[in-house]
Amino acid sequence: MSSTTASIESQPLAILGGPKAINDINRPMFHWPIVTEEDEQAVLAVIRDGSMSSIGLSRQFEEQWGQFLGTKYNLAHCNGTASLLSAMFAVGVGKGDEVIVPSMTYWASALPAVLLGATPVFADADPDSLCIDPADMERRITPRTRAIVVVHYCGHPCDMDAIMSIARKHGIKVIEDVSHAQGSLYKGRMTGSIGDIAGISMMGAKSFAIGEGGMLSTNDPKLYERAVAFAHYERITSDVTDPQLLNVLGPGQGFVPLPLGGLKGRINQTCSAMGMVQLKYYPQRIKEIQKAMNHFWDLLADVPGLKAHRPTDQQSTMGGWYNPVGHYDPDAFGGLPVTKFIEAVNAEGGRSGRGTNFPLHLHPMLNQSAPGADQGPLAMAWANRTAPRERVSLPVTEQINARTFGLPYFKHYQPELIAQYAAAFRKVAQQASLIPR
Ligand SMILES: *Cc1c(COP(=O)(O)O)cnc(C)c1O
Repeated sequence: MSSTTASIESQPLAILGGPKAINDINRPMFHWPIVTEEDEQAVLAVIRDGSMSSIGLSRQFEEQWGQFLGTKYNLAHCNGTASLLSAMFAVGVGKGDEVIVPSMTYWASALPAVLLGATPVFADADPDSLCIDPADMERRITPRTRAIVVVHYCGHPCDMDAIMSIARKHGIKVIEDVSHAQGSLYKGRMTGSIGDIAGISMMGAKSFAIGEGGMLSTNDPKLYERAVAFAHYERITSDVTDPQLLNVLGPGQGFVPLPLGGLKGRINQTCSAMGMVQLKYYPQRIKEIQKAMNHFWDLLADVPGLKAHRPTDQQSTMGGWYNPVGHYDPDAFGGLPVTKFIEAVNAEGGRSGRGTNFPLHLHPMLNQSAPGADQGPLAMAWANRTAPRERVSLPVTEQINARTFGLPYFKHYQPELIAQYAAAFRKVAQQASLIPR
């Protein structure tokens, strides 16, 4: 360690009036997505052409996405939520079914199941990966379980070997929610190509960001056709071959084919155009993010109480490291709450906060504690529920907010600036006993 870094750490904490460890004047370090004239020209061309609602460019985007992910069938959607809803329909989720989902995730991993008349059943998390715990997942399987949604949380790949072998044993389909993990590898394989089908958000703040957009990806033509039939009326005639589906949908009888879901999932082609440009540079951009984030953690490797959220095997990666978080062990800091620790880091010039979602199973709408939760369009669906809508106990998940924190999300490998942030964490860790409670 250089003497400058050492001296920064022995200075008084900024929260106690000392000098800040970080002189952050480098905004581009954190800006995302990276947009160049090439993105701008691609989007402008769609607007000038008036082809926002056509599908030719979107088909090109789907094909390129499929090459990136390793999936044969790809269906662009207007957002990630819509792609997950289509994926659930595709695997057959319907009235009276149960769908096992993690609780530590964004709501769209779970709530589309309710719209299909099914009940989300929450499973606990693995404390290291923060992804679904395969053993707890298996415990929650019942004869009504139709699908399992797994979320590669904050870019960390799930334990797909265990998940797939449990799912195959029970004959249950696996939906990967890849909204945090575009480009993350699990043992050398691309997340989103391992389960039966994937739903992927490409919303403007995600790691792969193109506006409001989503993608459904699968290698199973039957699942693809069901997804098309659900919410893409404009391509039913061209893409659906299943005679039973076609019979219901009615092309060839003089009608416009109707979508089975009563929904329209089409993506705006400005997003597809930007998506193709973004995809060209995405692998190299996330490689740089991985290098930067790994460097940050390597600088903190010897600090007790702080631990990287990243896979340990060499063939797995964090992809674009979306929403990076760190593990925090309050016991290593005399019980200091993570919120107090982060206050001190932010006083040093840091930019951290709560790292993770609020657990879904604790939300009033998702357990019986909410008066009036049966209002709104989901009420009918809730009326079908099979599993009781009661508050389950998920001990690991309930601890995650207290044991993680948000990290600076470095988009570029700039070792000097990264070292300042690492020094801030090291300084606060070393002097944690002085932080006012
Ligand atoms: C963002 C997100 C979604 C939903 O995607 P939208 O594009 O915002 O509809 C689904 N699942 C997870 C885990 C997400 O983070």
